[in-house]
Amino acid sequence: MTPRPEDHVRRSIGAFVLGHLTTEEAAAVQAHLDGCVACRTEASSLAPVAQLLPLVDPERIRAPGVVERPPEMLDGVLTRIDRERGEQRRRRRRSLVVRVAAIAATVSVLLGLAVLVVESRSSGPSNVHVVVLAGSAPGISGEAVVHEDPRSTWVELTTSGLSTGESYAVWLEEIGSGERSPMGTFTGVDGDLYISLYSTLPRDRAAKIGVSAPDGVTVLEGTIPTAQ
Ligand SMILES: [Zn+2]
Repeated sequence: MTPRPEDHVRRSIGAFVLGHLTTEEAAAVQAHLDGCVACRTEASSLAPVAQLLPLVDPERIRAPGVVERPPEMLDGVLTRIDRERGEQRRRRRRSLVVRVAAIAATVSVLLGLAVLVVESRSSGPSNVHVVVLAGSAPGISGEAVVHEDPRSTWVELTTSGLSTGESYAVWLEEIGSGERSPMGTFTGVDGDLYISLYSTLPRDRAAKIGVSAPDGVTVLEGTIPTAQ
């Protein structure tokens, strides 16, 4: 029996592998993992990321100047991990004051990082792609981690520089027809924003992912690589 996407626990997996859930929440996630291969795979893929996470300062990743240059941000994370590997655990994470959004964004960034590392070491196919989104104006930037499910597309979207309080719509553009399949809406916030969205449009039929303002103007857009 395959659980429906909305029944999955992916939003909680990051917190689960980091040990940030309560005993009851962790038990619920564990119960789901016991019966769901997809989420179990996700959890095991995040486990090494969780070990790297204490080495990364979320506020550094959230710095606007860094977010605008994703490749250099990844380089910075790698350099920082190399440099700090020797002094691991010297500084305790201030986990109590780190906002959930910051953790989620960090997990998203590191998930992308882990995928890039895996892809660079293996020529095999991957069902996860990091799509850098082009902004319509300076200061607007975004990144989409696109996952493939058998019958849907799961996207982790990180944006920066959108207007606070404004509603935005996320969509996938279908190959061929060019029709836009809505994924959901969100409200802009100060600083970085992380959201997780599903579409029933299969990953191999999605050509682009984008974000539009209420007036229909596209503010972020990126091309999804063709699945192999
Ligand atoms: Zn699941």
